[in-house]
Amino acid sequence: MMNPAGYSRFGLVAARRAEKLYLAIIDRDGTACHLCGEETEPMERSADHVVPSSLGGSDRLLNRKLAHKKCDGLRGTTPIAIARPIIRWYRDGWITRVEASDLLWRAKNARADFVTEHELTPRRPAESPLARYENCVA
Ligand SMILES: [Zn+2]
Repeated sequence: MMNPAGYSRFGLVAARRAEKLYLAIIDRDGTACHLCGEETEPMERSADHVVPSSLGGSDRLLNRKLAHKKCDGLRGTTPIAIARPIIRWYRDGWITRVEASDLLWRAKNARADFVTEHELTPRRPAESPLARYENCVA
């Protein structure tokens, strides 16, 4: 059964519950993405699970943090401490999305001591954020 706004009863209840959750997270943490650190706009927000649902993490406020949908999707179930620097390298243009995704997948599947320093050190990309300074004369 649909209401005049076009939502099913269940959809409307779920939407209101989700809105309350987002407002509570924002009240507690602000509106920045906890993964990349940039501000989020309402339509791009996701309530990321700190401990992923698939690993038994709760859906409740205590286990939720605000993220961009794209950052949440990129992180998947990688632990946050590993995911954050990789997502920030991607955000800043040091690695491509494919490289970020590959690193995140491998990091999540490796013990931390198997992820070598070399693997976690991004190489300088062809289109480096520093390229704009290359023609500067001192
Ligand atoms: Zn983000």
